[in-house]
Amino acid sequence: MLTLLLVAFWLTAGSTPALAREAEPNFSQRQANTAARDVGPPAAQSRARVLAADELPAAHLWLARPFAPQYQLAPAVTFPYGSTGGGRYVLHTGIDIGNPMSTPVLAMAEGVVVYAGDDRLRLFGPKPSFYGNLVVVQLTRTVDRLPVYVLYGHLDEVRVMTGQRVDAGDMIGAVGMTGIAIGPHLHVEVRVGRMDRWHTLNPELWLAPLPGAGTVAGRVLTLDGAPVTDATVYLYRGDALWRIGATYPAEETINSDPAWQENFVLSDIPAGNAQLVVRDGARNISLPIRVRAGELTFVEFRIGG
Ligand SMILES: [Zn+2]
Repeated sequence: MLTLLLVAFWLTAGSTPALAREAEPNFSQRQANTAARDVGPPAAQSRARVLAADELPAAHLWLARPFAPQYQLAPAVTFPYGSTGGGRYVLHTGIDIGNPMSTPVLAMAEGVVVYAGDDRLRLFGPKPSFYGNLVVVQLTRTVDRLPVYVLYGHLDEVRVMTGQRVDAGDMIGAVGMTGIAIGPHLHVEVRVGRMDRWHTLNPELWLAPLPGAGTVAGRVLTLDGAPVTDATVYLYRGDALWRIGATYPAEETINSDPAWQENFVLSDIPAGNAQLVVRDGARNISLPIRVRAGELTFVEFRIGG
């Protein structure tokens, strides 16, 4: 199982092309070996690496998609966790999946309904009537003995009652646009430890990847190890820019997973070779990765050198 993914290797900033588009799409094993063996960068230098499995905590890719397979299953890439949509919207403490009005919403994991109703009188978001009709399920599984909650917002209709047990795949409601929503979609949040808006985590780090795809996540840090906020992360497949993400902003309702300390997550990346690129001043730092179906690939960038 000694594969490219599991080899932690450092790449110096200078060893990669200046432009991401010129980055070599297929990073060969020979180059990886060379990088691992020969390239030991000075401490104070920008670098990036794939973390090995034994450096990482257990993944919690537990959540099934909240829709049947014929519907849209992937979160909107334009408004991920921690985003304000370029300043247009309220800071996003969850993910959105767009589907037509009244599309059945399915429980993403087994648990007990701890809230079913609207949020006119009980506050779940930054103000009343924010999520409209919502359902909160406390999962049967815990993480580090802490309770895990999944919140489903903007429902047109709620089909469960508080105290009811649900299995993954059970219909809990239907897509709507109640509360503050532009068009019908489902808003999903993961809250761990406490069921309040200060305890959200990035749901993309909890979703079981779609068939043939994996999840890519990581940290973009300064050389001193502090998180870099609002940095853009580019993912290329071959010569094609496949996904653009951003590191979390410094906001008290946006949290890194306590165990993973990630500050970006890119879910549903097709399995195969890819390249991550982060800008470091006038340069690009690029890191070849291999995405594996059903798995989480975790990386770390250190920039500012
Ligand atoms: Zn949302």
